[in-house]
Amino acid sequence: MSGGDKLDFEVRPNPQPVAAAERAALMANPGFGRVFTDHMVTIRYAEGKGWYDARVEARAPIPMDPASAVLHYAQEIFEGLKAYSAADGSVTMFRPDANAARFNESARRMAMPELPEAVFIDSLRHLVEIDRAWLPTSEEASLYLRPFMFASEVFLGVRPSNEYLYAVIGSPVGSYFARGGVQPVDVWVSPTYTRAAPGGTGEAKFGGNYASSLVAQAEAIEHGCDQVVFLDAVQRRYVDELGGMNIFFVYDDGTLVTPPLGGTILRGITRESLITLVRQSGGTVLEQPVAFDDWRADAASGRLREVFACGTAAVITPIGQVRYPDGEFTIADGNPGEVTTRLRQTLVDIQRGRVEDTNGWIH
Ligand code: PMP
Repeated sequence: MSGGDKLDFEVRPNPQPVAAAERAALMANPGFGRVFTDHMVTIRYAEGKGWYDARVEARAPIPMDPASAVLHYAQEIFEGLKAYSAADGSVTMFRPDANAARFNESARRMAMPELPEAVFIDSLRHLVEIDRAWLPTSEEASLYLRPFMFASEVFLGVRPSNEYLYAVIGSPVGSYFARGGVQPVDVWVSPTYTRAAPGGTGEAKFGGNYASSLVAQAEAIEHGCDQVVFLDAVQRRYVDELGGMNIFFVYDDGTLVTPPLGGTILRGITRESLITLVRQSGGTVLEQPVAFDDWRADAASGRLREVFACGTAAVITPIGQVRYPDGEFTIADGNPGEVTTRLRQTLVDIQRGRVEDTNGWIH
């Protein structure tokens, strides 16, 4: 079937699912991205044929020819979102349509075929349904869904692949940071590495962006930090984002500022949701560049009250200490700020179905 907005999924339940007792043990303390559910979804694509062979089946290794294009030229994109146990016992997903749209933006940037949004959302629904037993019910936990697509054509030429595999796997997760909850994290401002240049791939959720961030993340860990902050690649002056999160600054007059989307940072769905929520409640959010020098000066003067990072995995996480080659400074007293804590609660309450979802974000 090609080009259609609907695909029929062939569902083949895993004949050997993990036993209930073992599953409970695995889910008791899942960490992040280590424990996986019993099933996966796969859909194939071929040029001229379109999307076909949609399946829900036992999670298993995917056989790959050594000449599969992705292994050589990294044509791969992914998404990340969570399914939650809602207060009324139902299962919810937060803005999966936004992930579907971003997946297709990434696909366009990487010269890959787009997947109809309805098929993307159906694929998530199928996995959540069949692996419902893997959905954690505790407050901090959720089922992380990882849709991804890669170039599967067996060919060594440098050009867009003619074949792709789209897949979704699920992973019950606790808190992203080992310390959990709203504990502040410390960040390292990399003097060495940048993440994305104008005209590059920064706005795509493309595997290579993360591969290139790893040495910078290692540098952060060497300096005792949890995450790396990237500055812009041209002037090395303005804050772009963290390795896997967007960033917000909260000033003493109540204004929030976050770096603008300009092609080099990821269009975070949490970022966009927070901008909407703050504006709806009458607050001010400016999307404007923040120079690292101003970050430091405003932290010293006390004008800057809070800084937090946000993303699906870590929700909203306050930033405590900021380290850079010539020194370090702390935001306010280093504890989670009032705005950060309140926004986190508001967002979590919406995601868990505890407050009315006036924006139609919950599926
Ligand atoms: N920036 C980067 C580089 C990311 O990988 C992520 C996680 N997807 C984010 C920001 C936050 O995006 P979202 O709120 O959609 O999870």
